[in-house]
Amino acid sequence: MTEVALQVSNLTTTFGHQGTAVTAVDDISFDVMPGEVLGLVGESGSGKSVTLRSIMRLMPQHSSVTGRVLWQGRDLLAMPEPELRKVRGGEISMIFQEPTTALNPVLPVAVQIEENLRAHTTLSKADRGKRSLELMDLVGISDAKRRLTQYPHQFSGGMRQRVMIAIALASTPKLLLADEPTTALDLTIQDQILKLILDLRDELKMSVVLVTHDLGVVAATCDRMAVMYAGRIVESGPVADVFGQPNHAYTRGLLGSVPRSGTERSPLLSIEGTPPGLMNRPTGCAFNPRCEFATDRCRSENPVLQAMAHGHEAACFHSDRVKAAGWAGS
Ligand code: SF4
Repeated sequence: MTEVALQVSNLTTTFGHQGTAVTAVDDISFDVMPGEVLGLVGESGSGKSVTLRSIMRLMPQHSSVTGRVLWQGRDLLAMPEPELRKVRGGEISMIFQEPTTALNPVLPVAVQIEENLRAHTTLSKADRGKRSLELMDLVGISDAKRRLTQYPHQFSGGMRQRVMIAIALASTPKLLLADEPTTALDLTIQDQILKLILDLRDELKMSVVLVTHDLGVVAATCDRMAVMYAGRIVESGPVADVFGQPNHAYTRGLLGSVPRSGTERSPLLSIEGTPPGLMNRPTGCAFNPRCEFATDRCRSENPVLQAMAHGHEAACFHSDRVKAAGWAGS
């Protein structure tokens, strides 16, 4: 049996706010297998990005992260800081939505790649130079020798994102955490970057957790997906199964709001209302004020994930009615 690469158990992240604690990530668990791409999906504020930052212990001081994050058998949340620093940027790398803020504007790209190589490899200076050229090549930046001497502002948005991926890959990570890596880019560049991540997954056998609000990206890129709402995972499973038969009313709503290929044209639907804020979570199922299937039980009890076939899970009291209703918009 294949060993799990990353095992997240009961991860909970709270922030102190005016003397009270608010929960941004609420007791979530998921696994990522070696070489697998897991998509974390949901609207803004659902807790996707906080999940990635909590895994990497990149949360601000006034927050608290509990649970267990086993990376190749070691708990990242309990790991001493010096050991964690070796893992972070070494075995596990992260790429962010906005490369402009993640790259250092006053250092040439060569220095920024070199820094990561120096911290996480034993390569000599000459070999680090060669590796930097290879990395630029790997992420599709031509004229690498000259480009390495340039500063981030001399690159376009798509090229800056490639630079950030080159820095993230300098240490040949086994896990890439990608937080909306293509959201700020136009569609052509988005396709190129996603294809690049998949090629690198194959080449380096790395696992990927991809945070996105874009279901098209999930369909094209991910093996499995976990749908987040109000800090919880409400449905997860293989992408084909979740797309084929959503079991949670929120997932059904999300899928109904994107065009489907290969079917008769049907109107796109939006989910009425807005996601709840951290301070005003509804009692019971957090989706109940927006849910057309909600009953009294949904307004008083919080559903937990129930396992179904093929590793598909959903936390909904009325999955049968959701399934019977078919796709939203169909
Ligand atoms: S538990 Fe109830 S409110 Fe929540 S998604 Fe299912 S039907 Fe809707």
